[in-house]
Order: sequence, then C-alpha cells, then structure tokens
Amino acid sequence: MSIPQLNLNDGTSIPSIGFGTWPLVGAEGYRAVRSALDAGYRLIDSAVNYENEGTVGKAIRDFMRESGTPRGDITVQTKIPGRHHDTGRAVQSGFESAARLGLDQIDVVLIHWPNPITGKYLEAWRGLVELQNHGIARSIGVSNFNVPLLGEIIADSGVTPVLNQIELHPLFIQEEMRAEHARLGIVTQSWSPLGKRKAQYTTPAVADAAAAHGVTPAQAVLRWQIQLGNLPLPKSATPERQASNLDVFGFALSEPEMAAISALGTPGERLFDADPATHEEM
Ligand code: NAP
Repeated sequence: MSIPQLNLNDGTSIPSIGFGTWPLVGAEGYRAVRSALDAGYRLIDSAVNYENEGTVGKAIRDFMRESGTPRGDITVQTKIPGRHHDTGRAVQSGFESAARLGLDQIDVVLIHWPNPITGKYLEAWRGLVELQNHGIARSIGVSNFNVPLLGEIIADSGVTPVLNQIELHPLFIQEEMRAEHARLGIVTQSWSPLGKRKAQYTTPAVADAAAAHGVTPAQAVLRWQIQLGNLPLPKSATPERQASNLDVFGFALSEPEMAAISALGTPGERLFDADPATHEEM
C-alpha cells in the first residue's frame, strides 16, 4: 500500500499517517514497530522521553536490511525533552538521539513540550535550527505549541516549524490551531488521534459513519482526521489493528458525516488535561 504524502514547508514531504510508539518499549516495542513497518507504516514517531529510541531504531534498521527498503522511504521522528532546552544541550540531545536510533540523520526532530514556565523554548528552537544546519535533523518542528508560542519562535529565528504535533481527536478538534497552522504553512499532526481511552467508538456519529462505509469505528475516526488535513499518529500494539488503522485511503466520509464527528466535543475543552500554557514535561 502506498501512503499519500504531505508537503512540508522546507521542501520535503512526510507520509500522511504515522505510527505512535508510546508506551512501546523493549521486546514488545520491537515487535510492535516491526509489525507496523511490515503493515506499511513509513512514519514512526518516538521521543527521548519514551525511552524507546534504541528499540525503534533497531526495528527500523532490521526492517530495512531484511526487506531491502531504502532509508529514504522511512520517516523517523523524535522529540527533545524539556530538560534539554538550553541551545547547546538541545544540539547534544539531537546527536544522542541519532546515535541511539543508529541513524546518521533524523528526518524530523521536535521540541516535545514548550514548557513556558521554564521559558527556554526560544533557546531550544535555536538548538533545533543548529541541528538542522549540522545535518543531524532533516526537518524541524514542535509539539504542544499554542498560537502565541509559535509566533514567538518564528519571530526569534525566522524559521517556521514544519509541523506541530498536538492533542487532536473528535472530542477536541483544535479549530483555532488548525487555522493558524494553515495560515503559517505548518502541518497539523494529531496525538491521541483515536481519543485513546476515551475513544468514541460507540457514539452514533462515529458508529453510523463506520457502518455506512463498512469500516471499523477507528477507521472512521482516522479517515475524519485525514479529510481534515491532519496527520494522525495512531498507536496499537496489535498487528490487526495496526493494519486496519492504516487502511483508510479507500473510502471517503460525506460532509454530514464529517460534521457530525466534528460536533462531538465541547469547543476548547481538553480531554487529557495537558495545556501547553501550563504543562511542564522535563
Ligand atoms: P491513540 O493512538 O488515540 O490510542 C491508542 C489506544 O487505542 C491504545 O490503547 C490502542 O490499544 C487502542 N487502539 C488502537 N487502534 C485501535 C483500534 N483499531 N480499535 C480499538 N482500539 C484501538 O492514543 P495515544 O497512544 O495516546 O497517541 C498516539 C501517539 O501519539 C502516541 O503513541 C505518541 O507517539 C503520540 N503522543 C504524543 C504526545 C505528545 O505530547 N507529543 C502525547 C501523547 C501521545 P492497542 O495498543 O491494544 O491496540
């Protein structure tokens, strides 16, 4: 299965759906990433704080070697943690991530959380710009940035992130962030794209759309993400679910089906209680 690509504002491109790897670690993590690659995922999301870059990197390298898949066909993404926000420390962090992944270059490096209380996100972003100049990061982006914080790093550096990975699912549709991303040419990546433990699989808007198209409720939700222009990162440890979550390019939701799913949440109400303005992840 070939996955449609999204263009990034630095002239590169990225698969329009990816595989989430938190909390997949160790032997289970290795098996899950291998089966995801076997199923056809070509974008793998990791982070220093997931403590799985070694496992993710080994699974990717083994898969490439055994399948003959070229390195350029796989997009590897990781995130630097809050405790590495000093510019020099951010640069070191990227080098260490590349070493743990066993790769010469990481396709996408993100700031995991802005941590505005600590207030070093400008330094962290300068570090990512440096990492890109060193060639360690092909593309650079952010995660969990809100509108003002995005504006600050762009004004400070003159460099616009290629993407912003944010909480986004049918209960939290992030209209303001999606509009700002569209204005700035930033791809919206969705974390917890299914809604994790609060997924709305039996809610009529989702269940009815799934039944109408002969797909699972999770597929209906992921298709909703794709049609909104978001890049979802579903996580599953189950090979069957991994495969079906990727199989969302053979049907299309109607406008009323899209609107019904988009109407499920309460505007502005986060589900997982992690507001970028106050959350700190070190
Ligand atoms: P999610 O992908 O919305 O949901 C994952 C849960 O849904 C798992 O419990 C999984 O169980 C289940 N699931 C997956 N496919 C399913 C299906 N087809 N039918 C029924 N259940 C299914 O939530 P998430 O793991 O929180 O988010 C995804 C990724 O986003 C993470 O892995 C991580 O890479 C990223 N993330 C980033 C941040 C950030 O701050 N940047 C925060 C959170 C998450 P099984 O594994 O048992 O299938």
